[in-house]
Amino acid sequence: MFMFYLPDGIPLEANGLRRESQFLDARPGADIIAAHVIGEDVEMARAFASRGDLVEKKVTFERLTDEAYAYSAEGDPTSGVIIGDDAVMVIDTRSTPVAAQDLIDRVRKVTTKPIKYVVLTHYHAVRVLGAAAYKAEHIIASEDTYDLIKERGAQDFKSETERFPRLFQAVESIPGLTWPTLTFRGFMRIWLGKLEVQLMQVGRGHTKGDTIVWLPKQKVLFSGDLVERGAAPYTGDAYLREWPKTLDNLRALKPRMLIPGRGDACKTPRETEAAIAGTQDFLRVLVQGVQSGVKRKQALKQIFSSTRGKMLPKFGQWAIFEHCMPFDVSRCYDELTGHDDPRIWTAKRDREMWNALAD
Ligand SMILES: [Zn+2]
Repeated sequence: MFMFYLPDGIPLEANGLRRESQFLDARPGADIIAAHVIGEDVEMARAFASRGDLVEKKVTFERLTDEAYAYSAEGDPTSGVIIGDDAVMVIDTRSTPVAAQDLIDRVRKVTTKPIKYVVLTHYHAVRVLGAAAYKAEHIIASEDTYDLIKERGAQDFKSETERFPRLFQAVESIPGLTWPTLTFRGFMRIWLGKLEVQLMQVGRGHTKGDTIVWLPKQKVLFSGDLVERGAAPYTGDAYLREWPKTLDNLRALKPRMLIPGRGDACKTPRETEAAIAGTQDFLRVLVQGVQSGVKRKQALKQIFSSTRGKMLPKFGQWAIFEHCMPFDVSRCYDELTGHDDPRIWTAKRDREMWNALAD
């Protein structure tokens, strides 16, 4: 049986609120299934959709070229691995050092070369907090990502831990925030022996600091969450006006293969284009939906419900769709109503937003 713990560590069952079966339907509008205790009062809250997602995912570790590998897990955050002549680079670390160990074990089955570099495509906790496990010489991120870790890394850690309990099962193994040891602005070239690896910022999108990793000779692209495959893009910290153009910039590289932020690797130019176009399509329908509500001066809750309804037929089957929608609509609404930069998500703001959008 899954035991849900309240934010203050009290098992849900101890409060007489044992309703774990309802975790299967945890989108806004579902029954009350969580609570947190404030003094003598029990404040009801609705669990985040991802809290109902408790089944372990099957991992695929795939060789794409002699140098590039993808570590994916059915819509969970995907990591990339590049094996050079003398060293290994890992792109996005997984959520905890314990989770990262599985990736390390799989790398060790194909090479004994040292893992010298860890690259963070952006600051989100689910993909950076496993970094300590690699004991890499360098942890590389864009300066914009460094700034975001400094500004909101601690809040993001707390908020993502509550959003994704399955991914943070071994949260106690995280020694603290992951701090880059090397930062760059715009472009950086790294040589793994004779293998050229390029780190680039080609525009803002999923976050302010998005970094892609590009193997120019092999034409293999590691996109981070700028591109998703079969999973909903999370846009809670996004620059939605700029994201479609950034995707055009990725397309202009003419990648042969693409390792997305979530989902399996795209192994042909056709699959790659489909993932980029699918992400663009999702963003277009999202922005159109929210925009039409804002024009009619509708309340956020109404806009959420109509936008979700419009997106459901096409995107409802994508991984984490229900989890993303409230955050995506909230950020899109903010951007269209004068918040150029994403507001910081705290665990408290997460809960307030989720409750406001539920009935
Ligand atoms: Zn992300």
